[in-house]
Amino acid sequence: MSTTLIWFTEDLRLGDNPLLSFESPPEALLCVYLLSPEQLVPPGEGLDWPRMGAPRRRFLWQSLIALRGELLKRGSDLLVRVGEPVATLAELVATHGVDEVRVRVPASQERGEQLARLAETLPGGVRLRPREGGTLLEEAALPFAPEALPASFSAFRRRVEAACRVEAPRPAAITLPPWPRDASRGLPPLVEVCGRAHRWRPDPRGGFEYHGGEAQGLARLAAVCREGGTIARYKQTRNGLLGADFSTRLSPWLALGCLSARQVHRAVRDWEAAYGANDSSYWVIFELWWRDYFFWAARQEGRGLFGPRRLPPPDAAFEAWRRGDTGLPFVDAAMRELAATGWLSNRARQNVASFLVKDLGVDWRLGAAWFEHALVDYDVASNWGNWRYVAGVGRDPRGDRYFNLLRQARHYDARGDYVAHWLPALAELPAGLGRHQPWRLAPEHFSPPRVVPEAWRHEMIDPQECRS
Ligand SMILES: Cc1cc2nc3c(=O)[nH]c(=O)nc-3n(C[C@H](O)[C@H](O)[C@H](O)COP(=O)(O)OP(=O)(O)OC[C@H]3O[C@@H](n4cnc5c(N)ncnc54)[C@H](O)[C@@H]3O)c2cc1C
Repeated sequence: MSTTLIWFTEDLRLGDNPLLSFESPPEALLCVYLLSPEQLVPPGEGLDWPRMGAPRRRFLWQSLIALRGELLKRGSDLLVRVGEPVATLAELVATHGVDEVRVRVPASQERGEQLARLAETLPGGVRLRPREGGTLLEEAALPFAPEALPASFSAFRRRVEAACRVEAPRPAAITLPPWPRDASRGLPPLVEVCGRAHRWRPDPRGGFEYHGGEAQGLARLAAVCREGGTIARYKQTRNGLLGADFSTRLSPWLALGCLSARQVHRAVRDWEAAYGANDSSYWVIFELWWRDYFFWAARQEGRGLFGPRRLPPPDAAFEAWRRGDTGLPFVDAAMRELAATGWLSNRARQNVASFLVKDLGVDWRLGAAWFEHALVDYDVASNWGNWRYVAGVGRDPRGDRYFNLLRQARHYDARGDYVAHWLPALAELPAGLGRHQPWRLAPEHFSPPRVVPEAWRHEMIDPQECRS
């Protein structure tokens, strides 16, 4: 009897999932998701938070429950286990006489190493078939060898835009081969993998609640791409800070693969066909190219993506940053939003990352590790790639990626609405730039921040101006 094992990873969907497409279907299909215990422990010494935080665990479990529902509808099922992946897979292969294991080609070296170990562990005769998926382009469609990936995003984008066509997404399978006889099935309850953290709920002040799963991702995509939806004005609104619809908010579904980039691309093209292409619709695809770029860059960087292996111990500046306690409202508001909701706008991510690395002088890897813990949309390539980019290390190193926070605040939060939203004490101050320098406006109530960078000399706000 032929049995195929599908190892689901960051591809928790049925639509546009090449793992579920068969020329000649096996007689039995075992669908498995494995949560590695490494995800549930701290990333380094002196750090007391797990790599996968509560927002992502919750979203992951919602997505797995939804995936199981879709698989059941098609005559299959899902088995979820917490366990070291290679050993667990080897055991399942032996127990159920599996002759083929399918898995998505990973971006990360960590998963790549697991695949290499799995290939060594599997008995002869069992095929390991990594398949690509999730990105706009597959390797064969790239207009260069992956090793010759252009050093900058702009050069990459120009090459792919000029030479490549994004394939249409594949439809979801209608039926699937049956479940192997006697194989166990189902998920452990979330409380078992989360402990007390399973009670975590996003703070309603975030204005948007993520629910994991393919149907929820497709529903958000349809809302973004409806007539007059976010896509119609994204180019103008994408740097927003407050509200549900200034950007697509598709990232958690893309990160876990509840949606593929090609599905988003198709929806954007359909919207353009119906209502006319504009700068905004183009810009959504532009951002998806960033995502592809970081995927291919991560494949090239290998272990180097994460910098030197051991994380440095956290210091007081890092602790203040991650707790949203630096005294600088624009940073503290964002870090509190992140902790309370698991999500942060791109503008805020860039600012807090730059502040940690360039102003506080903290090692960028600690910031990336905290984001890995805190983000609901954590994606290995996008997270570590963006951190390297802001820190000015890696493929496209530049020292000038400095965000002058006070200038940024003047530009993107001139009334101080964002900072007052997350730091209610600031709402007592008059709306305006003074909310970004409360230690100058009301020194009796607010202490100056831990650092006052030299670059802010020209950005200091005149307290008289703020009081009037
Ligand atoms: C320090 C830092 C860390 C980040 N970590 C992550 C991460 O772990 N996971 C993640 O998905 N994004 C990450 N980003 C990129 C970006 O901030 C988020 O993708 C975006 O804010 C998610 O919101 P959205 O879905 O509304 O994005 P939109 O602005 O609506 O963009 C649409 C989609 O394009 C992709 N995208 C947009 N910007 C980027 C970018 N700069 N890099 C890669 N893909 C992008 C995302 O898939 C996003 O969902 C990070 C950015 C920074 C500066």
